[in-house]
Amino acid sequence: MNSNDSVGDLSYYGTYPCPVCRLGQIEPMTLMDAMSCQLCHHIFTANLEKQQLQMADRQPPLMWRWNGKAWTKAQVQGLEWNSGYWLVAAVFVLLPTTLVGLSAYAFPPLPGSPLSWFPQVWTGLAFVSHLALVVWLVLEFYQVSVGTHLRVRGQNLFGR
Ligand SMILES: [Zn+2]
Repeated sequence: MNSNDSVGDLSYYGTYPCPVCRLGQIEPMTLMDAMSCQLCHHIFTANLEKQQLQMADRQPPLMWRWNGKAWTKAQVQGLEWNSGYWLVAAVFVLLPTTLVGLSAYAFPPLPGSPLSWFPQVWTGLAFVSHLALVVWLVLEFYQVSVGTHLRVRGQNLFGR
């Protein structure tokens, strides 16, 4: 593998790192306006004008933009993981935590009582559980990338 091959504009004549498994390289397919990865065998089509790569064998397609050296973060076509989603995620995590924390603050347990630690732990649990749910959703959103990367890496580790 020659990493110099992958610098420059996106074209159907070069080889590029595979944005899905991040271990293989994508190469042009003979007689087709498509590219494929020799490791994970996903098929891509390129939009050279926009320097975009689109995964052809997934619905809705994942999309990457080539910046001359590397791929930008994956996007599901027609659905951008934008700041609006982050706001919803932040509210989803912070609101229950704040409510639990506030009620603990408003009705504090008697100091020294056996359960005086409970409100803090409960607030922490509310935060961690909601955060875990958001992280899981984000992973699910990029599921293809994470799953394929682990599968190909596993194949490399344990032989084929
Ligand atoms: Zn690949």
